[in-house]
Amino acid sequence: HVGSQKVDRKVDSVCPFCGVGCLVTYNVRGEKIISVEGRDGPANRGRLCVKGRFGFDYAHHPQRLTVPLVRRPGAAKDWQGQARPDDWREVFREASWDEALQLAADGLRRLRDGHGPKALAGFGSAKGSNEEAYLFQKLVRTGFGSNNVDHCTRLCHASSVAALLEGVGSGAVSNPVRDVEHAELILVIGSNPTANHPVAATWMKNAAKRGAKIVLADPRVTDIGRHAWRVLQFRPDTDVAMLNALIHTVIEEGLADQDFIRERALNYEALRENVRAYSPEAMEPVCGVPAATLREVARAFARARGAMILWGMGVSQHVHGTDNARCLIALSAITGQIGKPGTGLHPLRGQNNVQGASDAGLIPMMFPNYQRVDNAEAHAWFERFWGMPLDDRPGYTVVEIMHKALVGDDDPHKVRGMYIMGENPAMSDPDLNHARQALASLSHLVVQDIFLTETAWLADVVLPASAWPEKTGSVSNTDRMVQLGRRALAPPGDARPDLWIIQQIARRMGLDWAYEGEESGVAAVYEEMRQAMAGAIAGIGWERLARESSVTYPCLSADDPGQPIVFGERFPTPTGRVTLVPADIIPADERPDADYPLVLITGRQLEHWHTGSMTRRSAVLDAIEPHATASLHGDELARLGLAPGDWASVRSRRGAVRVRVRRDDGTPRGAVFMPFAYVEAAANLLTNAALDPFGKIPEFKYCAVAVRGIDAG
Ligand code: SF4
Repeated sequence: HVGSQKVDRKVDSVCPFCGVGCLVTYNVRGEKIISVEGRDGPANRGRLCVKGRFGFDYAHHPQRLTVPLVRRPGAAKDWQGQARPDDWREVFREASWDEALQLAADGLRRLRDGHGPKALAGFGSAKGSNEEAYLFQKLVRTGFGSNNVDHCTRLCHASSVAALLEGVGSGAVSNPVRDVEHAELILVIGSNPTANHPVAATWMKNAAKRGAKIVLADPRVTDIGRHAWRVLQFRPDTDVAMLNALIHTVIEEGLADQDFIRERALNYEALRENVRAYSPEAMEPVCGVPAATLREVARAFARARGAMILWGMGVSQHVHGTDNARCLIALSAITGQIGKPGTGLHPLRGQNNVQGASDAGLIPMMFPNYQRVDNAEAHAWFERFWGMPLDDRPGYTVVEIMHKALVGDDDPHKVRGMYIMGENPAMSDPDLNHARQALASLSHLVVQDIFLTETAWLADVVLPASAWPEKTGSVSNTDRMVQLGRRALAPPGDARPDLWIIQQIARRMGLDWAYEGEESGVAAVYEEMRQAMAGAIAGIGWERLARESSVTYPCLSADDPGQPIVFGERFPTPTGRVTLVPADIIPADERPDADYPLVLITGRQLEHWHTGSMTRRSAVLDAIEPHATASLHGDELARLGLAPGDWASVRSRRGAVRVRVRRDDGTPRGAVFMPFAYVEAAANLLTNAALDPFGKIPEFKYCAVAVRGIDAG
């Protein structure tokens, strides 16, 4: 029994929300989850946040898709959402699986054969399993015939990964979150861990209690600031100025670890030369942090027995996101704060499986395990492995694919058809009017999801998929732990496992795949993926994973316990050294002006997950945070003549939304913070699609807006 409720079975799985990767047990009666308990996993030790504990009932929501849908002939694709009927039956009709799959695959095949492979693109999902990600990218590469495959890592840490691959040769973290236990100083930058990685935040707070110094560096002072030794509230967009000032101080004050630099780093002289002009005194007026505080923090970081950097999307979601991460790598390396317990670099991964989906090759420039598609050796290996000719040019990224959908008919790379599995770009992409128009303009759109999302509304064929508790699969968390989730429930109605659906599409596109059986098929896909990723997970066989639930990679043999801390001896670069890459200030793409005087910062909040498709259908979570809000400093509210709870319009050059305002004195004056989970006030209608040139990540953390009070009506 759980409380007064009788439980039929307990099923072990992994929380489906954030990258912390808390292990859970579902208490199930019949085909319903009654409650969720935290398990003793290496990332959570029994702890769960409110999403993990209470955010499970989305799986039972009456709006679940239970039957395939086909768009009615002539039903307009209302991308502005102004004429959407209350009843989906006016737009779609129900279809059998056979009919829907045939229509889905025929449409994709017709475009591929008529216009060439570049006419198609696929978005996979960081919410699915590793096996689904692997199979989806294999379908696009071998069935569609191009590398036009991507997922929401492009909106999340693509710039961090670009900098990490360039600098240290690996896009994953160097140390797990729980290593903060061994750190003397913990630099949290561009991250609100209490809201976005809540259980990870508890380890940080525990570390602070035992005496570790937390330094929070962020334009927004969030909850973790209450536990911080120093808070660097820098002006939005001035990350490089502030970080170069820290690097300058380390070098100028003789605090750099010269042995480490001599033996393990490249390009130090260029870095030193570059930061010469970035003294804390020169940067104080730029970033707004007192020079004395910058010097104090730089000294403490360099002198700490262990200093660890954890960062979030405040670092990555800028046109200079890659430069921000380059600075963090340089700071860590020149102080020798890497390769040991309590040190290192940790980009806190957002989605539960964004690490695994990227590892599995769900990105346009890399095959599985970050083998570049334009590397002749890797290309030849995968052609042999999959027995198919492969494109050797990187494909388009998420935002580029949207642009390519709207180019003229004469563009040979025009994207005309898409297969989208478990992502919701009609809510998550920047400049939503553009993205929605792009989706609506496609000749053929296939969407596979568990709800009729904003993206699915624009589809020609909708395929009802399984929620996470309804399938078995592996996911990889922010700490590089490969973890197993087990099927706890049957999918509702005629909904099917994603892996089955991908295979059905593949067969109808001419691929001869045989991963038979629901459970054995998952294991077969995993084992194939393991061969493609031998350099990371060779030692994590399916049976071992089933036995141990969680194994950290790199893990190269069956008796390898896994390596939580890497870079101890060498970096996985051709030279074995870290490359230091100097960075200079590149301003945001769109600056505030007289018409749009405020900066919009978008992000998440504790109770709601990304585009809200799951958490807004979760009774407890939606009850706690039912409405879209815009948070402003009390002084800013007063200047605008607004009080908390008032209605306001927030406008940018691309769109406008109507929200209630909330007072948050942690938000800097001159800025507005909005979560992007609310369809009725979609923050991404406002955001700017300008990209970081290296990671191709949009600038979600900075664009110009105007706020004005409006009547409640
Ligand atoms: Fe789930 Fe993340 Fe919360 Fe853990 S911290 S319960 S993984 S949302």
